[in-house]
Amino acid sequence: MLDTYSTQVFTNTVIKVTDLNHYFGKGALKKQVLFNINLEIKSGEIVIMTGPSGSGKTTLLSLMGGLRSAQEGSLKILEQEILGASKNKLTKLRRQIGYIFQAHNLMTFLTAKENVRMSLELHEQYLNQDIDKKTISMLEEVGLGERVNYYPEDLSGGQKQRVAIARALVSHPKIVLADEPTASLDKQSGRDVVELMQKLAKEQGCTILLVTHDNRILDIADRIVYMEDGKLKKDGVDVRAKVN
Ligand code: ADP
Ligand code: MG
Repeated sequence: MLDTYSTQVFTNTVIKVTDLNHYFGKGALKKQVLFNINLEIKSGEIVIMTGPSGSGKTTLLSLMGGLRSAQEGSLKILEQEILGASKNKLTKLRRQIGYIFQAHNLMTFLTAKENVRMSLELHEQYLNQDIDKKTISMLEEVGLGERVNYYPEDLSGGQKQRVAIARALVSHPKIVLADEPTASLDKQSGRDVVELMQKLAKEQGCTILLVTHDNRILDIADRIVYMEDGKLKKDGVDVRAKVN
């Protein structure tokens, strides 16, 4: 699988983090959780971030996704500085990013189809297209063509996570941020889910940053970075270089 992609050249930078610091709390309780983070991710790259619990991975991911306000340093997403960006700018940015979390975060009162559909409805450019058709063909791509009208409670863990992938990728985002997407899945479902993400992302040319503790899926990455105590310890472990 890796060989297929080994000739790929990554050129455009889609995420550029420079000297980023982050703090929680105020006054005497103020605590620094990210220290001088520098990281550049190119278009089409699949980067895996690992590291112990509490090392700052989720914090960094949520800053990159515009889900939390950046405080110090520089954070450029799709060539736009998001440190100090307006709410409006952050909202627009969030629409260009697909999110996949540990718990699938599906709306329990909506069917698989309605959950995926909702993500398209946020995009004006899709409103005059056949949203239902797009939604169903995305669910077919993740192998859930027979389950479009099921509610989350009637789907297995792996199936729910596949709905979440369909929801994240249906609008063809330039970036997908995934926080421990396999944590609640058994070995085989976890593997299936990341291989599916990899396949769809490579088809769409989308960039993936995936946080995981799961050593069994590291091989899907183009590059692995390691976070410890709020610092990026290792950047640039090129998986393909090791293989070749
Ligand atoms: P990871 O995802 O690597 O497990 P986190 O980014 O969740 O790490 O957490 C990094 C550090 O920041 C931890 O010490 C955690 O306790 C702290 N932290 C995370 N979120 C908050 C918050 N909302 N308020 C205060 N401290 C937080
Ligand atoms: Mg986390």
